Order: sequence, then C-alpha cells, then structure tokens
Amino acid sequence: IKIKITNIDIPVAFASAFEGEIIRRGDMQVEFDGSRVDCAELVQTVDASEIEDHKITVVGPEADEMELGSKNNIAYVVKVAGKNMQSDFEPVIERKFHNYINCIEGVYHTGQRDMQRIRISKDAFNAGFRIKHIGEVLYASVKNEFDAVVDKCEVVIYTDPAECTRIRHEVAIPTFDKRDDRLKSLTDESVDVYYSCILCQAFSPSHVCVVTPERLGLCGAVSWLDAKATNELDPNGPCQVITKERPIDERIGEYEDVNEAVQKFSQGALQDVSLYSIMEKPMTSCGCFECICGIEPFSNGVVITNREYAGMTPLGMTFPELASMTGGGVQTPGFMGHGKHFIGSKKFMKAEGGIERIVWMPKELKETVAERVNQTAKELYGIDNFIDMVGDETIATDPEELVAFLTEKNHPALSMDPMM
Ligand code: SF4
Ligand code: ZN
Repeated sequence: IKIKITNIDIPVAFASAFEGEIIRRGDMQVEFDGSRVDCAELVQTVDASEIEDHKITVVGPEADEMELGSKNNIAYVVKVAGKNMQSDFEPVIERKFHNYINCIEGVYHTGQRDMQRIRISKDAFNAGFRIKHIGEVLYASVKNEFDAVVDKCEVVIYTDPAECTRIRHEVAIPTFDKRDDRLKSLTDESVDVYYSCILCQAFSPSHVCVVTPERLGLCGAVSWLDAKATNELDPNGPCQVITKERPIDERIGEYEDVNEAVQKFSQGALQDVSLYSIMEKPMTSCGCFECICGIEPFSNGVVITNREYAGMTPLGMTFPELASMTGGGVQTPGFMGHGKHFIGSKKFMKAEGGIERIVWMPKELKETVAERVNQTAKELYGIDNFIDMVGDETIATDPEELVAFLTEKNHPALSMDPMM
C-alpha cells in the first residue's frame, strides 16, 4: 500500500489513525444508512469531455439542513476519466472509499455498494465538516492513489431522497448486477490463473487468500476480477498471479503452484492449502470474513453464521466466539471463514460434498443467498428449494432440535459419509 502525503481541503484531520474510530449515537450529528433508506456509492467511467476535474456537487440538503440525529439518504457518484481507465477498475476504486472516508476525523463508514453506513460526529460538524467535504476526500484520494489510470475526477453527491432512489435503482444496482453477471460466466476451470491477496497481512501477518472465479476472498470484497484488476493497477501490489499448471489433487483443489505461492507469500508459515476442502488443508482466515462455516457433528453437516447475526448457533457458539478460533492466519480444519457469495458456489466445500452439507444458517443470511443456493442445489443434486431444508434460529439453535427438523425434511447431509 502506497500512502502519499495529501493536503485535503477539509476542516478536520485526515489520517489512517482515525480508521478505527467509532461514533456512538449520542455523539453523532447525522447518519446515512443504506440498510434502511436508499443509498449508493459508485465509480463511473465517463469520457473526459463529460467531466470537469475537481468539480464537487451536492444535490439535495447539506448536513446543516438535516435534523440532529437523523437518518438520511446519500448516494455519491465518482466520475472518472483517463485513457488507461477500464470499467474493471471501477469496483477496485470503489472498495477504497471505505478506507478514505474512515480516515476522516469524526466520520465513520462501513459497508459498500448500496449498503454503506456513514456517521458524522457532532465534533466534526461543529468544526465545519459538511457533506461536500466527503467529495473533497474522495476526489483527492482517488486522484492520489489511482493517478496511473484516473486523469480527471468529478464527484456528485446526492442527498435528495428521490434522487438517491433513482441513482440506487436505476444506476447503481444495474451496474452491480452487470459486474456480478460477468463473474457468473467464469469458472475455476475456464481461467488460466488465480490470484493471491495479502492485503490483510497488516493485521494477520501469515494470511494469504487464494482468489479464484468461484471462490472470492473471505472478506467478500475481492472477486477474481477485482484481484485481476488490482494486479493490473499495481503489478507489485497485494494481488499476484498464481499459475495452476501442476494439480496435485483435483478433488480438494490442491496445486503445486498454489502451494508454492502460499509458502512464498506467507513467508513460510503455510505449506499447503486446498481450495475446496474445509477438512484437508483448508485456507486460512484473517479476521474480516463475512461468514464462518463449522462442522456440526450431530447432523453430519455444517453450520454457517455471518457477522451481522448476533445470536447463538447450534454449535453452541456465537459469531465472535467462532471468529476467535477461526481467525489469525492459521489453518483450523473443520472451520473456515468465507464470503457470502461463496455459499452459492459449486466449489463450496466440494471435497466434502458441497452445499448439500449446509444444515443451518441465520434466517437473514438464508434469504440473502436463497436464490443462488437453490439454483446450485438443483444443478448439482436435482433438489428443489434446498434452502427450505436448512434450519435457522427461528427453527432451532439446539443441535437435537435441529436434527429433528432435518430428519423431518429428509435433509441429504444425514445420510452422507461422516465428515470426520
Ligand atoms: Fe484480500 Fe483476503 Fe483480506 Fe479480502 S480477506 S482483503 S481477499 S487478504
Ligand atoms: Zn482480512
């Protein structure tokens, strides 16, 4: 990661020291919440003639026209132009917004795409910080970090609710869908190389993600296309090409080339990893997994839980408890961190039988992944509506009750080979 000194014209400080800052409800002036109202963050490639460099526009009310403590809409479109710019770079730039906005003193950001959440503290507001300054930060940071591809940059920030709804539904979501569709047509077999990602080594020094078309990074934010774009943008950066010419074991997805790469990028801490097994040489986890999957011995299956779910799982552990034994960059057979999108993949735990093993997920996660999971189960096993066979917290969090439910549903895991 290259960090240049920037002089950004905002009334508060801007430094990575503020990245972990949390703003409590009582300390906040206003917030924006994509999970409640229409929001979006988007990079759009346009022709150089269509934009004016460093122009920042706010369409709708400014922070001082919003009620204290209120929840508001926000959608920012960062338009970029450059002769080396490619649309594949858009999500890579977008992903950095989280870091940029978090570096502002008194401003907090989580999430991405149309699910971001931002809080502006009273202190920052009283110091003069306004929504237009988010534009200044995005402008300066994008120009600073992506100068190889971005020649001109203009930021439009919508806070008008109707405009945010329009941007989210008519511009942002179709763009995100198009990106996801591009990935859908790619399989691990159809590409010549995979990518490593070591972005998380700052926190988890031996952790290496191996990113393939059918297995995105465990943070859920780095797809194979993103890793490829990151590598093109910065050939010496966090994502390196891994060849896949020397398979060792196709069943668990083990390759000599991948092992060599993992050995090198983990500085020898890791010897070998598989791409498709949770039991044999599973991939390591840093700490930012969207989900954790762990074996559930009573049902012979696996339980998945996600970061947003605060409740108990049939494993007798909550997400934070599972996270403390799964993270840290060490291999923990029987447990793995992964992205949400991986749940619908044909490569999910392929070595152990695939998604047929999933016996429990939090209800909300089930709803999020239902369509893809059902489609994959139909294609792989001819099962209709597989998601209805999977338990959730409204059905059971006790393993015995779960098994009773699974038996009633005739869940396939009950009759599969033991996992251990
Ligand atoms: Fe990269 Fe993996 Fe960290 Fe995501 S979790 S940023 S893919 S190392
Ligand atoms: Zn991480």
